[in-house]
Amino acid sequence: MSQSTQPVVVCGGGLAGLSAAVTALEAGAEVTLIEKSPYLGGTALLSGGTLWTFKEYDKIRELIPAGDPALQWVVHDTLPGARAWLQGLGVKFEDIGQMLHVGHGHVMDPVGAIGLLGARFKAIGGQLHLETGLHSLVMREGVVTGVRALHDGRIHDITAGAVVIATGGFQGNPELLGRYVLREPNNLMLRSNYWSTGDGFIAATQIGAAASPGLNTFYGHALAAPPARVDNTQFREAGQHHGRLCVAINMNGERFADETESTGEEAINQALAHQPGGLCFYVMDDDHMEQMSMQGRGALIRVILARCQKIGATVLQADTLETLCAAMALHGVPEARALATLKDFNAALEGGRADELRPARLGNRKPLRKPPFRAIHVKAAITFTMGGLAVDERARVLWRSGTTSHYAPVPTERAFVDQSAQGEGASTAIGHFYRQMPVQGLYAAGNDVGNISHFAYMGGLASALTMGRNAGRNAATLASVRKRVP
Ligand SMILES: Cc1cc2nc3c(=O)[nH]c(=O)nc-3n(C[C@H](O)[C@H](O)[C@H](O)COP(=O)(O)OP(=O)(O)OC[C@H]3O[C@@H](n4cnc5c(N)ncnc54)[C@H](O)[C@@H]3O)c2cc1C
Repeated sequence: MSQSTQPVVVCGGGLAGLSAAVTALEAGAEVTLIEKSPYLGGTALLSGGTLWTFKEYDKIRELIPAGDPALQWVVHDTLPGARAWLQGLGVKFEDIGQMLHVGHGHVMDPVGAIGLLGARFKAIGGQLHLETGLHSLVMREGVVTGVRALHDGRIHDITAGAVVIATGGFQGNPELLGRYVLREPNNLMLRSNYWSTGDGFIAATQIGAAASPGLNTFYGHALAAPPARVDNTQFREAGQHHGRLCVAINMNGERFADETESTGEEAINQALAHQPGGLCFYVMDDDHMEQMSMQGRGALIRVILARCQKIGATVLQADTLETLCAAMALHGVPEARALATLKDFNAALEGGRADELRPARLGNRKPLRKPPFRAIHVKAAITFTMGGLAVDERARVLWRSGTTSHYAPVPTERAFVDQSAQGEGASTAIGHFYRQMPVQGLYAAGNDVGNISHFAYMGGLASALTMGRNAGRNAATLASVRKRVP
């Protein structure tokens, strides 16, 4: 392929990849999109379609302080414009609604949105290769110049002016999960498309790209545990979403985390993954039944339990906590220990000693009082890995190795002030910096970008859409410069 026809190559055709591809096309680039599966859409096709993030940027920083502030800003600041762009393509949104207790968003039909993006991509000249997966990256003199793609068992080289990696994270790869997230990857059910096995992360880190902080954190919701039968069209039926309202009892009969921590169910779900078998019972009383699973959106808990029973989930019901624990014992939970845990929980809340509970219970301090009591057997599940590639605010993937310098960084460079290296009274503006420079020609978007959400969650579709647009725009600019200056 000659220098004058170098395309932007986008790897992954989910919401992030499609947004990058269409944005790059609209900016005048030639674009080739490779997608490993037989269809476009990735996890967005399975999603609820709520395009949301926090209302206030300061609240993001308060609740997700370990996330990257610049990337969080990009998502928060560019989401309204990106949504308007989707509307311009014909995507319809419901009116704005509350999401969890800190966010707001608009619901779209995700299947329709992916269809419109795919149609737009083809209409303005995009080249699509389905069942074609990113295998590795091609480099020349430190610059990414293309990709090696696997199709039908054979490797094909595709030359690129710029490459966007949007392969959706590594939740489908037990080896990477075992290395970075938890010792027992089998403790996790996969609540995502099947294809996101970390190919983008592996290809980029193989050429020396940096991994982000937060590799051990992930987003997901507990699912009804086996024998419930959950295929990938049933994630929403089998998803619990109400962990923060329950008392979670592991297979040792113990509470193991503050069920109410963080913005939704992601904290208790992450803690659950580290419990034996990734299993627990969510225990609730009758007052729970008419509550919504998540503040503002979601289903009544009564509806969630009924749906889960239909797919074979273990849902127990009893008139006393004693008989509920006896029923849990038939599923392997030590009866006396579970009963002591529930009674201690109630006694602490009823006796004004809630602060003494260990693990803590900072929110939803209601004892289990009103029979009948219910317990559903649930298992931890992963939707996407929150860690991934280290990326700057222009979606450029960064080198792992940096250089140290005593000069203040230019704004587009990533810099970490090494406080220990600064002498007494040293200026914070000019300190001892560790600089990570961008890998020329390599961008990332969506779940392949690490450290936007970090332990707590600020919206997957919003991150995919905004970082996809960002990567597509910047990749197109670079590809056009490379065309003019061989
Ligand atoms: C049940 C459910 C409900 C959800 N609801 C919401 C919601 O309401 N709101 C919200 O914000 N988020 C929601 N999410 C999360 C959201 O869907 C994801 O965060 C988002 O779709 C991720 O987009 P992505 O483009 O990064 O990844 P994906 O959509 O997963 O796309 C990645 C694509 O890359 C492809 N791929 C993988 N490897 C390769 C390779 N080597 N080469 C080429 N292609 C490759 C995959 O096949 C896939 O098509 C939900 C998720 C689930 C499962």
